[in-house]
Amino acid sequence: MIRMSGEDALAIAEQVFVAANHTKVTEMRGYTCAYGYIRNADERIDDVVLTVFRAPHSYTGEDTVEITCHGGIYLTNEILHLLLMKGAVPAEPGEFTKRSFLNGKLSLSQAEAVMDVIEADGRAALHQANLVKDGRLSRQMREVTDQIVGILSALAYWMDDAEEFPPELEASGLSAQIRGIYEKLSEMAEHYQDGKILKNGIRTVLLGRPNAGKSSVMNWLCGENRSIVTDIPGTTRDVITESVKIGPYLLVLSDTAGIRETENKIESIGIEQAMRTLDTADLVLYVVDSVSGLTPEDEQVLTACRGHHVLILWNKIDLCGNDPGEIDFPVVQCAAISEDSLAKMEDALREVFPVVSGNQPSVINERQFRLLSQANFRIREAISLLESGGELDMVAGELEQAARFLSEIDGKDISRETIDGVFSRFCVGK
Ligand code: GDP
Repeated sequence: MIRMSGEDALAIAEQVFVAANHTKVTEMRGYTCAYGYIRNADERIDDVVLTVFRAPHSYTGEDTVEITCHGGIYLTNEILHLLLMKGAVPAEPGEFTKRSFLNGKLSLSQAEAVMDVIEADGRAALHQANLVKDGRLSRQMREVTDQIVGILSALAYWMDDAEEFPPELEASGLSAQIRGIYEKLSEMAEHYQDGKILKNGIRTVLLGRPNAGKSSVMNWLCGENRSIVTDIPGTTRDVITESVKIGPYLLVLSDTAGIRETENKIESIGIEQAMRTLDTADLVLYVVDSVSGLTPEDEQVLTACRGHHVLILWNKIDLCGNDPGEIDFPVVQCAAISEDSLAKMEDALREVFPVVSGNQPSVINERQFRLLSQANFRIREAISLLESGGELDMVAGELEQAARFLSEIDGKDISRETIDGVFSRFCVGK
């Protein structure tokens, strides 16, 4: 499909399109299409369907024409070339969405979400992107900025009429309101970190003592013989990475060497790597051989895993091993050599990463996150100034800055370079 947007779009299409019913493109109404063919002088190039959207009721807010042809590189290029000859210009990356933003059809955060919708690689990521694309983040940002503006006008009134509003009475109320904003923004920032995990996949590291069944678990999850499985302890030496879908979750799995003190040089490199991957992991799948149960070594490593999301895979239950008993982490009882535990894993993941079903929009990229954090920093400054009896105009100054950062999320008062930067990551045609 070839798309043209702008005030000359219909007139240019008119020069190359002949409708079967002889309708002129420039006379077509919006949301209608016509069957016909594309011609170059007297030559008929392809049969096509041409659809017209009239400003402002189009994606870009401008007159838009979409030509659906038979496709193929040569043919599509021919039609494109013809249109360029008649005065069209090639779109830049993300130009359609950029125009949509510049023409006020989408806020900047909604425009950015278009790319996230396209790039979503799972249901959870798509859900988050759609929340933002539908404008929920914009609405939330507007609510918070309106709240700040309300506080600012109260402050202005207060500063003018200090005698009428005794500061010691009002400060606590104001400070509670500002604190409310701070908590809301902090929650959104946290949500972003979770959203990022869902979007990029949950970086997962498989740990456990040698022979606990890590490689078998990896193979079971990946559904193929990706790691070497043997009954000789310590055979998994390299870190192998694989992406696996479990329900709505995408796990980016690293299978690592079994963790234990070792004399073996090659294996100890694997163990070092395992501990290093722990630093960047979002989730630890800790495999325990249920026959030997939890050993002091396991407990030691699990203590090192505190602060991470951990799921214990209580493995080899087909061998009727020990009962897990009381453990501080969620436990999935499984047998890596059988296939029926995936549903249990999905349930356990929902417990650890419950954000999937949430309808709470969050910021969706680093640009938005940076602005949110900057705004929240200013809010925190305002709170401490207010609580330490600082000057009111300084409190107001911090709040104004916070409001400015928040409105930048939706593209208000931002520079051309920032806008260009946002759209440069789009592909041509979007
Ligand atoms: P790793 O050293 O932790 O990677 O352990 P492996 O995946 O190599 O498994 C060690 C041995 O345990 C292999 O012989 C596996 O076939 C066996 N094993 C792994 N999981 C299970 C299980 O759930 N049930 C049974 N019966 N054997 C298993």
